[in-house]
Amino acid sequence: MTEPTRQENSAADLLPERLARAITLGGAIPLSQFMAAANTHYYATRDPLGARGDFTTAPEISQMFGELVGAWIADLWTRTGRPPADYVELGPGRGTLAADALRVMDTGGFAPGVHFVETSPLLRAEQAKRVPAAEWCMELVGLPDDRPLIVVANEFFDALPIRQLVKTVDGWRERLIACQDTLFLPVMGNTVFDPIIPHHLRDAAEGSILETSPQGVTVMRGLAQRIVAQGGAALVIDYGYEGPAIGETLQAVKGHAPANPFDAPGDADLTAHVDFATLAEAARAEGAVVHGPVSQGNFLKALGIDARAATLSVKGGEDVIVARNRLVNDGQMGDLFGVIAVTAPGWPVPAGFA
Ligand code: SAH
Repeated sequence: MTEPTRQENSAADLLPERLARAITLGGAIPLSQFMAAANTHYYATRDPLGARGDFTTAPEISQMFGELVGAWIADLWTRTGRPPADYVELGPGRGTLAADALRVMDTGGFAPGVHFVETSPLLRAEQAKRVPAAEWCMELVGLPDDRPLIVVANEFFDALPIRQLVKTVDGWRERLIACQDTLFLPVMGNTVFDPIIPHHLRDAAEGSILETSPQGVTVMRGLAQRIVAQGGAALVIDYGYEGPAIGETLQAVKGHAPANPFDAPGDADLTAHVDFATLAEAARAEGAVVHGPVSQGNFLKALGIDARAATLSVKGGEDVIVARNRLVNDGQMGDLFGVIAVTAPGWPVPAGFA
């Protein structure tokens, strides 16, 4: 047996060492920087979805999810007068949602250009298997700027890095990540952030945590700018709440079970719930119109999931009903996930938000 060379080591094995060196040299880093490094590595080195992966998303549970999103798009596009427009998806995972949605759009006479915003080379390859005609870019700047964009983001915003501010006896401070040898642990930064804490939360009890997602806000502002300037709509579906609010939602998932977010960075999926109210405000600040949030359960029911489930269960049987229940029932995804739509001024109210 020979020792593996550096190249043969999996890249994920090296991330903790790299982060530990950076922290030892430069000092503790904001949680957002830790989360960004961990997730970039995580998504670049594996397909995390499905029974053998770490977690399962709505489009991987049933084709009904992507099909209903496709029907939602085809309906909006038809009521807008069938303009030339492109389909955009942020963080498309395996490309399953897009493939299911595009099939239904095609039936509705809409065959858009397809653009995926995806940073992971490994997942880009998965997406190419299901949507060979797609074009890829790293960020919103790479998208066409001469036609309306219809954008879908399912479980995308929850993977973006968050900051955590913690109420201490000495005011609100940022949670930073320090390290001892290769053990990562949260510590309190010195800077006091009281002036940026919303007034109604400033006097929260000691130990209270406020999460913010600066990158989420930046992405939403960029999307809204495009939609206002070019026409179009965005559909955002995620685990979320209407904040800003006190509470820690950062979580790590590995093999369908909770893990410690600070253990083995880059080897577990790090997510945080999405603050829909803050995203909505960011979109409105750019002049876009915001619809919702509504619950995923109510959204899918309004789009006709029960009729679709009845049709599919003729062949698919009980499995289809189980999947339908997972997607819409309270206590499952139905009330835990929320949906907002962002539209250009003058575009019709999208289905599901009446
Ligand atoms: N939407 C898919 C996958 C969700 S997982 C589904 O519902 O099944 C999150 C996805 O976002 C992955 O494709 C991941 O590679 C991508 N992603 C995470 N951070 C990103 C970033 N900053 N920019 C672009 N894509 C990102």
